[in-house]
Amino acid sequence: MGNPESAYRGIVGRIAAAAERRPEPAGEVRLVAVSKRQPVEAIRALAELGQRDFGENYLQEALDKQPELADLPLIWHFIGPIQSNKTRAIAAHFDWVHSVDRVKIARRLGEQRDPSLPPLKVLIQVNVDGEESKSGADPTDVPAIAAACAESPALELRGLMCIPRPGNTTAFEQLAALNRSLPEPLPDLSMGMSGDFEAAIAVGATIVRVGTALFGPRDS
Ligand SMILES: *Cc1c(COP(=O)(O)O)cnc(C)c1O
Repeated sequence: MGNPESAYRGIVGRIAAAAERRPEPAGEVRLVAVSKRQPVEAIRALAELGQRDFGENYLQEALDKQPELADLPLIWHFIGPIQSNKTRAIAAHFDWVHSVDRVKIARRLGEQRDPSLPPLKVLIQVNVDGEESKSGADPTDVPAIAAACAESPALELRGLMCIPRPGNTTAFEQLAALNRSLPEPLPDLSMGMSGDFEAAIAVGATIVRVGTALFGPRDS
């Protein structure tokens, strides 16, 4: 991508405009810049423009990149599938985890998060559209996972997350409806990527995860 600054300013502006078009003012939308398979120089360039939140999908890649960026006040979001043998490192090296999809993962993160750190902010990833290729909890499992998060003082349950198949923007409404149906609706909905973040914001996203629209195509 030619100019990271104009791409960044463009996305930030579109997010703010989409948030303003909402019928009820619902606060600011947090942009998570998805930096998987992007070099540290690209992350640094965006950080210099003021971006703070970065999302990574692959643990080892993130652990390789984070030390090179340790001089910057970045907020790290883990957004990829979680194997249970990776929870200890995720709990140690991230501020947010968007992809908690089973009770066992919630329990392990809660046990392994250093209690002297701020609580790990977690979202429950929900498979709202029955997408076979993606992970995520069945909507009926959300109360049990939420209860497991509530049991741990080292976790702060923030909300729900989804990765619907491309074009299925009704999944965003389904996630918002699922949240409203909980006994205590959660403050955050992490939904919307490069191609559909405005549709997600229109129905209540508070966090959007944008990669290629910010950074250009990923290294393969
Ligand atoms: C890669 C990824 C994104 C960003 O996708 P883009 O289409 O590049 O914006 C967002 N969320 C998750 C979970 C991802 O894996």
